Amino acid sequence: MKKVAVIPGDGIGPEVIGATLEVLKKAAPNQFEFIEVSMGGNAIDKYGEPLPAQSLKTCQEADATLLGAVGGPKWDNVSPDLRPERGLLGVRKGLKVFANIRPAKIFAPLASACPLRKDIAEKGIDFIIVRELTGGIYFGKHEAFTTPDGEKAARDVMEYTEHEIRRIAHVGFKMAMGRRKIVTSIDKANILTSSRLWREVVEDVAKEYPEVKLNHLYVDNASMQLIRVPHEFDVIVTENTFGDILSDEASQIVGSIGMIPSASLGDNNRGLYEPIHGSAPDIAGQDKANPIGTILCGAMMLRYSFGMNEEADRIENAVDDVLKAGLRTPDIFTEGTKLISGSKMKEEIISRL
Ligand code: NAD
Repeated sequence: MKKVAVIPGDGIGPEVIGATLEVLKKAAPNQFEFIEVSMGGNAIDKYGEPLPAQSLKTCQEADATLLGAVGGPKWDNVSPDLRPERGLLGVRKGLKVFANIRPAKIFAPLASACPLRKDIAEKGIDFIIVRELTGGIYFGKHEAFTTPDGEKAARDVMEYTEHEIRRIAHVGFKMAMGRRKIVTSIDKANILTSSRLWREVVEDVAKEYPEVKLNHLYVDNASMQLIRVPHEFDVIVTENTFGDILSDEASQIVGSIGMIPSASLGDNNRGLYEPIHGSAPDIAGQDKANPIGTILCGAMMLRYSFGMNEEADRIENAVDDVLKAGLRTPDIFTEGTKLISGSKMKEEIISRL
């Protein structure tokens, strides 16, 4: 039995995770032991902290971790070091996952949900963002201070070591080798010293992958090109903050934030799998949440942590079939399609497995 730590989290987290566990049990019966773990706002309520030591330990001992989403207005005013998002950063750090993989692929039946011009969307969108996850400004020194003139000031330090850049670059090049063999490295090397090191190291790593074509883009230009010529991208490799922002842009290009899974990987196969959306408190408990992003996380887990490619394909095909049948949760509903609830979406996917 493979052990999977499951963090339902807050808001719509338990809804989308519940759906995903049912799908996994149908796609790969009797393969997994699911161990529920408390993290986020619910852990603050129960244990006074967003990531209790026991929760992290369970995740570290599991073969993979599946996470819904955490946070919500109830915990917006707790002190910064106790916020639910701290639990998120803590679990990523504790699992030593440093590469966040976010596929941005337009499912053909959802082409009409793409906000880009038809002639752009028709060229096809299928790229992967490989985002560095444990370095850069989010993990640098954060400091609020007072200037000698008595004015309030604050600074956040962006720092990268050669080793951190090298290992994420390898993830990107390896992914590209199994795809169209194009890597676009995104930085701000015209301004930032950390980006100049980034570019230097990525170019060095590229020498080990002579078949892969490497491009560099500044992040401001990249944000334009992603909506101008998205079909030209294959694998994007970028640092933590740039990746955070660009992957939200990518999520809109391919339809809904509710559709996109992500995998966070380290040096071993014990990945952390989470949809890119948050806890969506505005729709929690209303059976409106689209479970597809989390269900596709389940498929990514089968593929990357357990090498169960056939079962992963079956889940992805079932999702595609449901969309082809015109069934839509509210977030992806367009005229001429059929509106269904989140739980009905789950049932329809399971019935096609
Ligand atoms: P959000 O992603 O929760 O919601 C943004 C919008 O997208 C909302 O209108 C929401 O209804 C919609 N949406 C999100 N997921 C959906 C789904 N599966 N189906 C249908 N619609 C969906 O982002 P937010 O509103 O900025 O944040 C809400 C809370 O979530 C905050 O507390 C935030 O800190 C937290 N958050 C958590 C994570 C995480 O756990 N990984 C990520 C982002 C935000």
